Amino acid sequence: MNSYDVAIIGSGPGGYVAAIRCAQLGMKTALIEKYNTLGGTCLNVGCIPSKALLDSSHHYDDAVKHFSAHGIEIPGEIKVNLEKMIARKDKVVEQTTGGIDFLMKKNKIDVYHGLGSFKDATHIDIDLTEGDSETIEAKNIIIATGSKPSTLPFITLDKERVITSTEALKLKEIPKHMLVIGGGVIGLELGQVYRRLGAEVSVIEYMDRIIPTMDKAQSKELTKVLKKQGVKFFLSHKVSNVSRSGDEVTVTATNKKDEEVSLSGDYCLVSVGRKAFTSGLSIEKAGVKVNERGQIDVNEHLQTNVSNIYGIGDVIKGAMLAHKAEEEGVFVAEIIAGQKPHIDYNLIPGVVYTWPEVASVGKTEEQLIEMGVSYKAGQFPMKALGRARASGDTDGFVKILSDATTDEVLGVHMVGARVADLIAEAVTAMEFRASAEDISRMSHAHPTYAEAMKEAALAATGNRPLHT
Ligand code: FAD
Ligand code: NAD
Repeated sequence: MNSYDVAIIGSGPGGYVAAIRCAQLGMKTALIEKYNTLGGTCLNVGCIPSKALLDSSHHYDDAVKHFSAHGIEIPGEIKVNLEKMIARKDKVVEQTTGGIDFLMKKNKIDVYHGLGSFKDATHIDIDLTEGDSETIEAKNIIIATGSKPSTLPFITLDKERVITSTEALKLKEIPKHMLVIGGGVIGLELGQVYRRLGAEVSVIEYMDRIIPTMDKAQSKELTKVLKKQGVKFFLSHKVSNVSRSGDEVTVTATNKKDEEVSLSGDYCLVSVGRKAFTSGLSIEKAGVKVNERGQIDVNEHLQTNVSNIYGIGDVIKGAMLAHKAEEEGVFVAEIIAGQKPHIDYNLIPGVVYTWPEVASVGKTEEQLIEMGVSYKAGQFPMKALGRARASGDTDGFVKILSDATTDEVLGVHMVGARVADLIAEAVTAMEFRASAEDISRMSHAHPTYAEAMKEAALAATGNRPLHT
């Protein structure tokens, strides 16, 4: 029987990063993945393919709507070849997952393809994809089995017309009317992809605003921009039924006035969140406990109730983000190696990759109010930047929230071109506990979108932005 210092179940960004860090720290490491390709949800049916389609559809949208303003004229009709667009996305996924195979070999990690299930707290049975089954022994085990799409009790996901993000990444036709249940990250990113490609898109959201966990100002700005792009919103609508008849799907919901509203389309994307995935793991054989939400229950060291078994990523509590899973993968590897790592969960940024992009770190204004913290807010509009006018991307803003007494930056919230990258400046500043004044006194290259950070910091420091 093969014996390891660490065995990791699940090869998503949590699992494969944990494997690399364990190997770097000199541990004999095994990685178990039930699918044929490594990389988990993120690389196969999440972050990477969705960004590939966002980028392709963005190019199309620019060509159809924005090139002419730049003096670029394309004779004839610009057409979408959806099959080719999806094939390109598949190629990007293939290259990216192939990269993980390379990293596993480079780090001498043993990869097993097959379903892993606990035999006991130190043994894992692997039902190999090719061949029978094999049992391995490991001193430490990391559960990194990720998540699956959630649904509502009355919905039948037929995966043809009533679909999850996984199917939405490989449609064979552009929907005529896509009904999107849930105005969160997936609904808006994939909704924007198909809106750009020509679909009518209606978002039905239970809360009174989209991206409800982000700062309210971001919800407002993104709603305004997406409405301009033709996306329709049905906010404060509680979905009560989804039915399919032939190629038609009907979503029924109740609005704030308690009226029943019915919407019909040819596809319905269900994007109401994701849930921890533990089925097939037989955790009971190891004695590992789950919490009331079905997540692997862990302490501050990400250790389960069984001391040699850990949990990371989407399968435990917290934000379901690839970079959060990665941080936790490194953290657990270092804990096992006897080090004292640290993760500041307050400084894990959140990004929505629509265009304009939306990015956040730290506390929202609503959270600060709820916490009773006195704060100052400084906001600067992208449209006041020369860089934004040069490219034509003038939507959005940067908003900085700082402590009213100490001026320490407590939260940064952005909407605009390239803010997915710009948020890194805010994370760095907050990691070093910068004040708004510190940021306002740093030189920011001109002309860049980053100048909005400096200007918002000036606004927060003493209401003295230079360019508004
Ligand atoms: P996963 O990536 O889910 O990996 C778990 C792996 O475990 C899977 O490969 C699964 O097959 C395997 N597994 C499960 N059970 C077993 C078993 N018993 N034996 C063997 N293998 C098993 N996050 C971002 O930060 N940025 C984004 O832009 C982003 N975009 C997204 C877009 C979409 C459409 C979706 C669905 C998600 C997106 N996410 C994004 C979220 C991100 O994908 C997840 O947070 C991330 O993948 C979680 O990583 P993980 O390692 O915890 O789990
Ligand atoms: P989400 O939690 O972002 O959004 C779900 C939305 O559905 C919320 O706005 C919620 O209020 C709404 N909702 C819930 N029940 C509803 C109902 N009955 N009727 C109408 N609306 C309802 O979840 P998601 O968009 O499905 O994404 C799942 C996870 O994947 C998220 O946790 C996210 O972090 C991750 N993800 C991240 C990215 C990114 O980082 N860019 C992209 C895609 C997915």
